[in-house]
Amino acid sequence: MTQTQAVPLPFLNNGSEISALIRSKDWSQHPLGSPDGWPAHLRMAVSLMLNSQFPMFVWWGPELYTLYNDAYRPIAGDKHPALLGQSGREGWAEIWPVLNPLVESVFRGNSTWSADQVLYMNRHGFVEETYFTFSYSPITDDSGSVIGLHCACIETTEKVLAVRKLEESERNLRNTILQSPVAMCILKGPSYKVEIANSRMYALWGRGADQLLHRPIFDGLPEARHQGLEELLERVYRNGETVTARERAVQLPREDSVETLYLNFVYEPFREGDGSVSGVLAVAFDVTEQVAARKKVEKSEQQVRAMVESAPFPIGVFVGRDMRITLANQSLMNAWGKGGDVIGKRYAEVLPELEGSGIYEQLDKVFTTGRPYRARNQRVELQVEGELRPFFFNYDFTPLFDTEGQVYGVMNTAADVTDLNEAKLKVEQSERNFRSMILQAPVAMCILLGPDHVVDIANELMIGLWGKPPEQVLNKPIFEGLPDAREQGLEALLAGVLQTGIPFTANERPVELVRNGQKETVYQNFVYEPYRDADGQILGVLAISIDVTPQVLARQKIEEIVVQRTRELAHSNEALHKSNEELIRTNNNLEEFAYAASHDMKEPIRKIHFFSDLLKGELEAQLNDRQKQLFNRMEQASKRMGTLVDDLLAYSHASKGMLQEEPIDLNQKIKVVLEDLELEIQQKNAVVTAGPLPTIKGNRRQIQQLFQNLISNALKYSKPDVPPEVHIRAQKVLGADMQPSLTQAEAGREYHFIEVRDNGIGFPQADAERIFHVFTRLHGNAEYRGTGVGLSIVRKVVNNHGGIIWAESEPGQGSAFKILLPVV
Ligand code: ADP
Repeated sequence: MTQTQAVPLPFLNNGSEISALIRSKDWSQHPLGSPDGWPAHLRMAVSLMLNSQFPMFVWWGPELYTLYNDAYRPIAGDKHPALLGQSGREGWAEIWPVLNPLVESVFRGNSTWSADQVLYMNRHGFVEETYFTFSYSPITDDSGSVIGLHCACIETTEKVLAVRKLEESERNLRNTILQSPVAMCILKGPSYKVEIANSRMYALWGRGADQLLHRPIFDGLPEARHQGLEELLERVYRNGETVTARERAVQLPREDSVETLYLNFVYEPFREGDGSVSGVLAVAFDVTEQVAARKKVEKSEQQVRAMVESAPFPIGVFVGRDMRITLANQSLMNAWGKGGDVIGKRYAEVLPELEGSGIYEQLDKVFTTGRPYRARNQRVELQVEGELRPFFFNYDFTPLFDTEGQVYGVMNTAADVTDLNEAKLKVEQSERNFRSMILQAPVAMCILLGPDHVVDIANELMIGLWGKPPEQVLNKPIFEGLPDAREQGLEALLAGVLQTGIPFTANERPVELVRNGQKETVYQNFVYEPYRDADGQILGVLAISIDVTPQVLARQKIEEIVVQRTRELAHSNEALHKSNEELIRTNNNLEEFAYAASHDMKEPIRKIHFFSDLLKGELEAQLNDRQKQLFNRMEQASKRMGTLVDDLLAYSHASKGMLQEEPIDLNQKIKVVLEDLELEIQQKNAVVTAGPLPTIKGNRRQIQQLFQNLISNALKYSKPDVPPEVHIRAQKVLGADMQPSLTQAEAGREYHFIEVRDNGIGFPQADAERIFHVFTRLHGNAEYRGTGVGLSIVRKVVNNHGGIIWAESEPGQGSAFKILLPVV
């Protein structure tokens, strides 16, 4: 073994790690031998190498003994330090197949250059993919033969792998973009050229790759310009910001129009390996439908809200068991009278005055059970403007359910019926007043309701009139409680008033009643008035009655006495025959007196009329309305007095009996009468017809009066809106055929039957006899003027002519006046 290192070798003395190693290495057994014996070319190459900072090695001789520098050490990996002096072939056996051809080429005198050459090295105990850029150059001896190889190399593994990674990530990005379920693209450079875009993005743009790919986006898609997108892209491209947009409205082409789409999108800087921004990565999501749907919901929500807000009745929503107010419209806040600051508060907090009213409990029950609560006309006391006031509400508590079917709150709707209630109370009050008025009235009064005329209320006087215990009549149909009043024409009267609403008035009407167990005829003046509700609907009949039985009975008594006296007179005619002359004179005197009185009264009446007229004319200008009215009334009264006197004159004339008799052609007579009544006929649009009439024997003036009275009544008692029709006809009959009440003698006689028939208001058959009495009137003077004398004259005239007269009628059905005059 030779001890080396006797002399320090200057080429191995540069202070590097490897030079020290070479020096210290035992080269004695190595074919190269000790460094001091190395050929000058080798020493030169090693010296050069050791002084370089660049990774280098030398392969020396055909065996390719390896020498390298410090910079190469990391490349050698675990092969160091064994690699030092080792044959390259052995040291790099795993990659030799790649290197060998190069090495051989070098030994043939060539230099090589390999860039990023992949080498699968095993330098750390495993096979590793490495990349190197290196050059081999031959080392030649003085004769030019290649004796070694010099290599400068640099490992590019990291760079290559980085590049590959970059490529891969770019590929991945491309794939990601292309396969992405959302629209994506990369816009490159300051003009935003479409570098790549997936089909969704093209669909979003509304334009294909043929028009957009590799073109500046705003060139291919001018529709997208000037919507602020340029600025957004700029921020990303210039400043490296990330821009996010939500539901941004963007106009984009669709078929042949431009539409507004709503997009969520992100613009991100697209960076190069060196971190510089080279473009914009855009990810977009079309949310047009969602936005439209939401807008629709929002709109309908808004509509509902607006509806609720403006609803004219209170609406509120209280949520949770503690009834927090989440909605209260103006109407509700008005009703509560607590101002507008109620939202978010608890119901009990806003309406503490309801404590103890049971309303909290109602709400809680609705919340617990999920069943609605409904109150009608409920009195609720609310604190309004610091004062506890009563209100009346119709209100509903309706449970509100969430999607899981759980109650989450209660909706409150209500209607303030306070006014209604007050009105109702007022109506009730006035109804009460009315009723107490009826009960206290000094005349008999009652109300009969509905078609059955149920006795709703009747005062004591009325019950007394009926002569029945109150419990028998009250609250029952009148004809049930008072069956004895049936079939006397009253049913029709009541029904008529109920139906037509026209009041009915009766004077001295006889009604048969069983009073206190006895059948009696009572005479009544009564009014049936329609009884209406607030809407004017007829509910029943208000009857006011005055019992005039005593008066009527008294008068009847007098009449009876008169009749009796007359009869007695007639019977004792014989007896009186002697004083007949005197009697006639007396009688005549009386009649004459009446006649003269009436006649004489005519003059003063005319004067009253004349002078008052004169006075009125002179005073006219100074008179106030009231005074004028007084004048009018004076005139009316004197006029009426005039007619009364005329009627009385006619009556007394008729009372004189038959004065002169002569044949009278009734056809002629009627003609004259109709001429007299012409004005009235015209005014009332009346139709009067007369059949062929006979010639009779009688008093001209009286017969004229008879027809005058009958026809003028027929015209006068007409229905307000029906033109009067009057038919006069005559026929020869046998007395018995027409009137069963005639005596035997009369029944067999021949008569002229004359009828005057009208279509007027008629009257109850029960009154058919009474109307022939002097001063008897069935109809009020307000509607139908008259004196009640006309028909008594008519009867007198008929009697004077040895005939009889009777009337047939029914209310509303017209009347017929029938006369029998003996044929002579
Ligand atoms: P007046 O002057 O009242 O008409 P009358 O003696 O002529 O007096 O008639 C008596 C009453 O008989 C009248 O008030 C009226 O109620 C009734 N009356 C008479 N004629 C008719 C008729 N054609 N239709 C209905 N009622 C009549």
